[in-house]
Amino acid sequence: DLKHALTGKQILVYYQPQISLKTGKIVAVEALVRWNHPDLGILSPAQFLSTAEKTGLMTKIGEYVLKTACEQIVKWKQQGLPIETVAVNIAGDQIHHGSLVEKVKLTLQHTNCDIDWLELEITEDFIIKKTKQAITTLQQLRDLGISLAIDDFGTGYSSLSYLKQLPVNKLKIDRSFVSDINNDKEDATLVKAIIAMGKSLNLELIAEGVELDSHEVFLCAHGCEFAQGFYYSKPLPAEEIEKLYRDKDKDRRKNIKLISK
Ligand code: C2E
Ligand code: MG
Ligand code: MG
Repeated sequence: DLKHALTGKQILVYYQPQISLKTGKIVAVEALVRWNHPDLGILSPAQFLSTAEKTGLMTKIGEYVLKTACEQIVKWKQQGLPIETVAVNIAGDQIHHGSLVEKVKLTLQHTNCDIDWLELEITEDFIIKKTKQAITTLQQLRDLGISLAIDDFGTGYSSLSYLKQLPVNKLKIDRSFVSDINNDKEDATLVKAIIAMGKSLNLELIAEGVELDSHEVFLCAHGCEFAQGFYYSKPLPAEEIEKLYRDKDKDRRKNIKLISK
């Protein structure tokens, strides 16, 4: 079924807002893949990405998401939406087999997407496993001028020394630390430590999985700059993201709390 998903236009890209905790505004979105299966309906990445990896289809799917996300941000810019960047997740397979740097360059050209409008997310887990090759590829992407984020930061459990060598701009604090931030002292300590470390390394910080008022309060109090989570919005189809802007004051304040801090 997955083989037919791409040709059958069943692969969809949803977008989840990323909020500036300083202004309360949506500053970016993350592109998240979905599969609209003809019998099973909308499937989440957890339900099909491992199959995509095993069957060698991950690179194709990843390239499709990249192209779609670039086209989308160009459309939003043309419409005047104040979304600065779109973040796209990159799978390990794309770095291994996909001549990623060349593909990214071509995709930007073909879609007319400015290099500043794209950010790539690579999981900490992958970087740790494939340090040498990953660093070379990431360096080439940075040389192009693309912003890079380490996804699921804190879950890879490795020496932090690789952070010094990595040409990254941003850490995404994994949601497993954020969910219990107000009850679990150790999680709270870890998040504070990640924020402090990121800041001293001049990295931007975004917390994932922000679901509660109390999460936001904690993150603001400890100087985390950006947040993403169901508290603001679930991942949505592109048209729904546009609606968030159309409904401006009324809906924003009622349905998704974009509070100025
Ligand atoms: P991720 O990149 O860490 O993306 C964040 C995931 O957390 C998304 O799950 C999102 O829906 C979920 N999330 C966001 N806010 C909250 C929250 O407040 N609470 C909870 N419980 N969850 C929240 P999703 O869309 O199911 O994606 C899961 C993972 O699949 C992603 O994690 C990413 O690693 C991978 N993925 C998604 N799209 C792509 C893609 O196009 N390419 C690649 N290589 N991986 C992708
Ligand atoms: Mg991600
Ligand atoms: Mg993540």
